[in-house]
Amino acid sequence: MAFHVMIIPSMNCPSDCSYCWGVDRDSKVMDIETIRDTVEWLRGFRDEPATFTFHGGEPLLAGYDFYREALRLISEELSFLRPAFAIQTNLWLMTDELAELFAEYSIPIGSSLDGPEELNDFQRGEGYFKKTMRGYEIAKRHGLKVSFISTFTSYSIKRKEEVFNFFLENRMNMKLHPALPSLKSEDPEEWAIGAEEYGELLLYLLDEYLEHFHEIEIQNIDHFAKSSFLRRGVVCTHADCIGNTFAVDPYGDIYPCYRFVGMKEYIMGNVSDRPSMEELEESEALKSLYQWRGLVDEECGDCEFYRFCLGGCPYNAVPIEDGRMRIDGVDHQCEA
Ligand code: SF4
Ligand code: SF4
Repeated sequence: MAFHVMIIPSMNCPSDCSYCWGVDRDSKVMDIETIRDTVEWLRGFRDEPATFTFHGGEPLLAGYDFYREALRLISEELSFLRPAFAIQTNLWLMTDELAELFAEYSIPIGSSLDGPEELNDFQRGEGYFKKTMRGYEIAKRHGLKVSFISTFTSYSIKRKEEVFNFFLENRMNMKLHPALPSLKSEDPEEWAIGAEEYGELLLYLLDEYLEHFHEIEIQNIDHFAKSSFLRRGVVCTHADCIGNTFAVDPYGDIYPCYRFVGMKEYIMGNVSDRPSMEELEESEALKSLYQWRGLVDEECGDCEFYRFCLGGCPYNAVPIEDGRMRIDGVDHQCEA
């Protein structure tokens, strides 16, 4: 697993998707001082190639001036990390100015669309589709590579054929994402899909992919194929992210991944204190995740897929209960 730093400029978002568990309407927008602190923290932290992903909430809320300075600072001051960049955005706030800047740094864009307009807007909110497509056109005009994550929920999985055909007909690459039970919601399972359903969805898409090879890319299936050839997992959920991935929130707090941001129990430190790896390892959060890794090694030791999976995503397995982390077995998507 490569060194990965996620920068979360805001946990707010102009959209209001029904199944989203990540938004904080009161979140501030990161100021450039936090990027300076992050740069100072990383200067003495680790010396190996790093990927910086801007994530959210909606990262474009930080605006052009923030990105111009943040990209310059990270590229110049941390050149020894050979930084590569990526961004995950709904594209609503994309402008020609931003797209030109991202093109300068060859930043691949991950965006989100769940399928045809009516289905997408039912899950994500009225007007979402048009706003994302508008940003997509701007990104394409500047030569940016855009891939779409399609979140399959308990609703859209019943219309999987329509979703697949939408991506196929529009020549859009696709990555699927099963809606997760939220660690933050009162009804965590409302939109989530179960492991068995997700496994069947993967099989359906594999059949379609074989039929339509060279017409579309389905990244999850590509990743499984690549894993089989390389004999190891090639995405974070099938590799060891613990101690290799870090997320910095708008206040400079450091978490194990963007998925945990906002859950104070998972804060490992703050960039302004320039914590060393040893200091981060003293945090309850990292101790719990290492404990989870130990449990996975025991429970999954005999599994023939272990080297491709490593127990999956710890977010799916370590919920907070009564203000404490509870280790809840291996990833609930195991069966898939
Ligand atoms: S917590 Fe899950 S989503 Fe985050 S880096 Fe780890 S495996 Fe990936
Ligand atoms: S989570 Fe499931 S598939 Fe993955 S290694 Fe463990 S037992 Fe195997």
